[in-house]
Amino acid sequence: MADDAALDALYQEIILDHNRRPRNFRELPNATCSADGKNPNCGDALTIWLQFDGDTVSDISFQGVGCAISKASASLMTLAIKGRTRTEAAAIFERVHNLVTGTAIDGDAAKELGQLRALGGVSKFPMRVKCASLAWHALKSAMDGSEPVVAVHTGAPAPA
Ligand code: ZN
Repeated sequence: MADDAALDALYQEIILDHNRRPRNFRELPNATCSADGKNPNCGDALTIWLQFDGDTVSDISFQGVGCAISKASASLMTLAIKGRTRTEAAAIFERVHNLVTGTAIDGDAAKELGQLRALGGVSKFPMRVKCASLAWHALKSAMDGSEPVVAVHTGAPAPA
């Protein structure tokens, strides 16, 4: 049990660090697509920008206001998604979705999540699941250009 407590503390430290110093927290002037995500229950409001080079996410950024979980999740997401293909990004989305909703993930898939595993603690707190998944739904919306599950609006793709 001591190990669990140490792990919880580590995960909490990751969340706090990314909240304090969110990575890729800026606009992307040459974005290929973007999407907004809003979580009215908590007051989280984020915009995600994606830049594609062919099929690969060459750059990704976000800005917005929100609780520590929502900002840390978006920050961790930018690190996890940059350099990935659409297919890889979709697979990571699935894993994170399973993680935050408390759905079992097999060992190898869990290992590949790396620091994203810090988001797993929210699965015990239903109100927090939306905070953690907000940026990810915005990401999916930006990639698909589809209507998302949560209140997210897709920006028009920038001219190529
Ligand atoms: Zn929140």
